[in-house]
Amino acid sequence: MTKMTPLLERNEQFARTYTPVPLAPPATQLVLVTCLDHRVDPANALGLQLGDAVVIRNAGGRVTQAVIDDIAYLAFLAEQVFAGQIQADGLFEVAIVHHTQCGTGFLADPGFRHRAAEATGVAEAALEASAVTDPYLTVKADVERLLTAPGLAPKVSVSGHVYDIATGRLATTIDARHP
Ligand SMILES: [Zn+2]
Repeated sequence: MTKMTPLLERNEQFARTYTPVPLAPPATQLVLVTCLDHRVDPANALGLQLGDAVVIRNAGGRVTQAVIDDIAYLAFLAEQVFAGQIQADGLFEVAIVHHTQCGTGFLADPGFRHRAAEATGVAEAALEASAVTDPYLTVKADVERLLTAPGLAPKVSVSGHVYDIATGRLATTIDARHP
């Protein structure tokens, strides 16, 4: 028994009308970096279909070294495998999306952060760095971090956005630019 059982029934419905998507660059030329929060699923909020966009999710939607590594690999893969399908305006745009009411915001409280560090073994500094209390500030910091990351392919552009949990609206706060 597993809690996946009801989802397997949904998958059966899905598979009945499913058409496989060929391996190709994402149709929207977008790589989204966003929070793992189940209330901000970009497939729903942004109307994504299969093959539309790469989505990288972690706590807060933060630009961590792991995210930078994934983006570097995606750029390499795109240039190696899809050379003939790359658009003239670049490989892809990385859209960083932070949101209001983020659960990582609790980590801004020193007491909460200390207990979290003890319970998880994650360093307090790392937990503090992952907190999103003001998504407008953190998205700006993360756009800068990615744009200045060594090894970011010059054909990759980066933009910043904030998603409002209360309204369901996404606002662009930083227009796309190249490193
Ligand atoms: Zn969040």
